[in-house]
Amino acid sequence: MGKPLELTEEEWRRRLTPEEYDIARRKGTEPAFTGQHWDRHEAGAYRCAGCGTPLFSSETKFDSGTGWPSFWAPAAPENVRTEADLSLARKRTEVLCSNCGAHLGHLFEDGPQPTGQRYCINSAVLKFEKM
Ligand code: FE
Repeated sequence: MGKPLELTEEEWRRRLTPEEYDIARRKGTEPAFTGQHWDRHEAGAYRCAGCGTPLFSSETKFDSGTGWPSFWAPAAPENVRTEADLSLARKRTEVLCSNCGAHLGHLFEDGPQPTGQRYCINSAVLKFEKM
C-alpha cells in the first residue's frame, strides 16, 4: 500500500454521516445488534467507510453472538493496523484502517480457528459490496 491518506476534518465530515464520524474519528461504538452487518451472511467485501479500502471479507466472517460484525482475519494484513487501547481498565487492542486511520473496532484473541482472532468491528464504518 502507498502513502497513507490524510483527510482534513472537512473531508471527513463530507464523507461520513454523523454516526459514522463518531465511530471512525471519535472511537465510538455502535450499540450491539443495531448495525447493518452483524447478521449479514451474503458473500462480498467490506470496505472502509472513510476511504474504500477492502478491510474484511465474508469469507472470514463468523457469528460471534456479540451483535457486531466479527471476522477471524482481515482481507489483507497490511490493510488494517492495531494500537494498544488503554481507555478502559482492561487493556484492549484497537483496530484501525491502515490507509485513512479510521477507528474500526477492537481485536480479541478468543476467535475461531484457524487464527483464534476476533476482529470485532462496527457496522457503521464498513460499506458492504455484494460479490
Ligand atoms: Fe480507510
